[in-house]
Amino acid sequence: MQAGHTPKVGEPRILPIVQSTTFKYDDIDQVHRVMTLQEFGFKYTRTGNPTVAGFEEKINLLEGGAGAVATASGQAANLLAISNICRAGDHIVAASTLYGGTFTLLHSTLKKFGISASFFEPEAPAREIAKLFRPETRLLFGETIGNPGLNILDFDKLSALARRFDVPFVVDNTLATPVLCTPFKLGVNIITHSASKYIDGHATSIGGVVIDDGNFNWASGKFPEFTEPDSTYNGVRYTEKFPQAPFLAKARAQFLRDFGGCLNPFNAFLFNLGLETLHLRMPRHGENALALARFLQNHPRVAWVNYPGLDPAGRKRIARYFLQKNGSGILTFGVKGDRKAIGQFVKKLRVAALVVHIGDARTSVLHPASSTHAQLTEPQQRAAGITPDLIRVSVGIEDAGDLIADFDQALSSLD
Ligand SMILES: *Cc1c(COP(=O)(O)O)cnc(C)c1O
Repeated sequence: MQAGHTPKVGEPRILPIVQSTTFKYDDIDQVHRVMTLQEFGFKYTRTGNPTVAGFEEKINLLEGGAGAVATASGQAANLLAISNICRAGDHIVAASTLYGGTFTLLHSTLKKFGISASFFEPEAPAREIAKLFRPETRLLFGETIGNPGLNILDFDKLSALARRFDVPFVVDNTLATPVLCTPFKLGVNIITHSASKYIDGHATSIGGVVIDDGNFNWASGKFPEFTEPDSTYNGVRYTEKFPQAPFLAKARAQFLRDFGGCLNPFNAFLFNLGLETLHLRMPRHGENALALARFLQNHPRVAWVNYPGLDPAGRKRIARYFLQKNGSGILTFGVKGDRKAIGQFVKKLRVAALVVHIGDARTSVLHPASSTHAQLTEPQQRAAGITPDLIRVSVGIEDAGDLIADFDQALSSLD
């Protein structure tokens, strides 16, 4: 994937790292036009940088959007998507099966800023979910693949609800990536990513990105932030001044300028490299995950295995919504035995490593009950889908036989 950087003769073939906070001008009138959004230009890396722009253009092309804004992390991407749309008094309808950090953001932290959220069980019927929408609801939020439940979103049902209530449908596509799923084709309006996972692919950098499809109508009157004058930019009205993509213009002008959650150029360079091999890595993650899931399913020390590619309901969603026949690289399973046995199993792994991360080329395991979800009580953990025996595996792109042998020897050591 070469997009995002088109060198002329004699220029570097590789997207250069522009490690500069600032950009030179010699005409104060031009600087004035740039600073007041009358003319585009890089001015200060917090609101835009050529290397970051190269990454933004590439991920935008992969998702098929109107443009993208890169952020300091996946958390910053979700905060941007929400805070660019909602203000105090507004309300969000969201799936209950979200990534823990996003759930906490919606459930607790945004509440302190006057933005509330109601959560639905993703397989609930549309008429149940519809009851959660209020006059002040401003967006519908979900994840293509829930983490750690691994449920694939019912895009048909949810995009119909978003249209019916005239709110943007925002989806975190981190676990699927545009190689497996392109949500804009499924009725989604805004996509977010934690680039720290598969996009990076090598566990080197934290970052995120928000992509807009440019099709949502922000001028309906429900979104005054877009239609009323922004006094901090000489009264600009985003829907009038930027009719192609008011969401993106406002995100850069307000979120990056004021909250400052920008991506740094070096991480953008690494994410750009990651995107160049994403189409090769994702199928391999999926094939390896399916092979390991099938092996674990038949192992006497394994109580259960959850992988969307294994069960008929998951396979049906993959066939309907995914561009490839395989799922992502994340699976969960239960080890038969107490906490001591689980500890011993993890210690015995030689290829897979115990780390708090997913989406790496190397296989990673995590025991959420003792780590990411340790602050919750056991009933709260169960409500979040975390059982005491659950191991989450981010299956890497190693040789599948080596991986299976590694899990086999670690499980067999428990006998
Ligand atoms: C990791 C993750 C995030 C948060 O991303 P960071 O880059 O760690 O801030 C958000 N959503 C999902 C689905 C994730 O997996």
